[in-house]
Amino acid sequence: MNKDKFTPIAEVQGLTLTELKNIIRQRPLYIWGAGFLGRAIKRLFERNGFTVKAFLDINPDLNMVESIAVLRPQNVIANIKKEGAFLIPAVGSQSAAIERHCLEAGLEKNKDFLPYMRMPRQQAVIEAGGACNYACSVCVKQNSALNYMSAELYKKVLNKLAVENPLLLSVDLSLWREPLLNPEIAEIIRITKEYVPCKLITKLQHSVYLEKAVKASPDQIQINAEGYEKTYEQNQTGGGRWQTFLENLHKLKEYKDKHNVNTEIYLMYILYKNNAVDDFNKMRNLCASLGFKIGTDTAYLTPYDNFLDVCEGRVLSPQIQKIKDLLPWNIDAVLKLCVQNGGKPCLCQRIFPVINYDASVLLCHLFCKAGVIDNFFDVSYDEIVKMRVKNDFCKVCQRYGLHRLDIDVLKKYFPEKDMA
Ligand code: SF4
Ligand code: SF4
Repeated sequence: MNKDKFTPIAEVQGLTLTELKNIIRQRPLYIWGAGFLGRAIKRLFERNGFTVKAFLDINPDLNMVESIAVLRPQNVIANIKKEGAFLIPAVGSQSAAIERHCLEAGLEKNKDFLPYMRMPRQQAVIEAGGACNYACSVCVKQNSALNYMSAELYKKVLNKLAVENPLLLSVDLSLWREPLLNPEIAEIIRITKEYVPCKLITKLQHSVYLEKAVKASPDQIQINAEGYEKTYEQNQTGGGRWQTFLENLHKLKEYKDKHNVNTEIYLMYILYKNNAVDDFNKMRNLCASLGFKIGTDTAYLTPYDNFLDVCEGRVLSPQIQKIKDLLPWNIDAVLKLCVQNGGKPCLCQRIFPVINYDASVLLCHLFCKAGVIDNFFDVSYDEIVKMRVKNDFCKVCQRYGLHRLDIDVLKKYFPEKDMA
């Protein structure tokens, strides 16, 4: 336990609009990375009066994205300074390599290019609704009830958010609940796209509104999958059938082709003890055959309320206990490292606001039960940010180092430690 060290959440994430204008001035922009993040960054800068000249991307299949050229970085980077242009990196996993390329090409940090961490990547999460996909030990929400946000309420929320936060980058739909259970999800996607890019996050267990949602063309659909066939069903806390999932994957492909939308389909494969090799290869092949992207993430006891239960000695529900035993890392060893790393800032603070289906605001996207305010409309966005910074729950979370619980990050700080 870490009682002394506490690092409050920052009020401002990355550079402000005024700082960006002072650094970039009228220079044309290149954005390195033409994926979902790059496209969201393009729209953010254009919305705020900047000119984006082209994307840079190593993918030879990309030539035009969002009506501008996609160029190969090696053909352009040496001329950026001469041209008087400015570069923005937009590939999180490659940020160190991109920075190295920029420096080698004679570009100066903060003068000719921005380091990735200074980008104002303010991602909102809005819980579009449906039943919850999880089964926490002590659920304080109406887990089984089909609660969702109406398109009318959603429009009001997004309008307020976009007006009060010009650097809003994108919106994730949804968080714990299933957005494809919301009968108004297609309208919600269309509304979002009038403002910012949107990512629909689903477990793909429901297909009644799937075609309408695909036709509305979200910028990205992220499908979370916990395994393949047997392990897919074993590794769920909230239930889910493999056959339904498989059929819906094929329907997704069919609707994407039928409506000719350029939505990026990204399957997030969650790694447990039992699914990392053969099953992952099978899922990779399936995605390749459907033309979907695939990536991996380590399994956690999502949401982090469950980790707090572990830290404070509460009994876990049988479903969560089962998942705990399947984690590919040792929970006691890793929680000790979290405490050791606890003096560092919260890793998830850029993802805000997190707005529930009833317009209440949550503290972050990791904890389901920690709230900031019951009604997003009661005060201004700036005041909500101030209330978040002062929220005492962050002290509880940081006491156990849960704000640093990210296996990839911990591996960087403790490369010699065996976490398995
Ligand atoms: S994520 Fe929230 S709503 Fe879902 S089961 Fe857990 S506590 Fe309940
Ligand atoms: S409660 Fe959430 S926002 Fe607060 S420190 Fe923990 S992870 Fe960060």
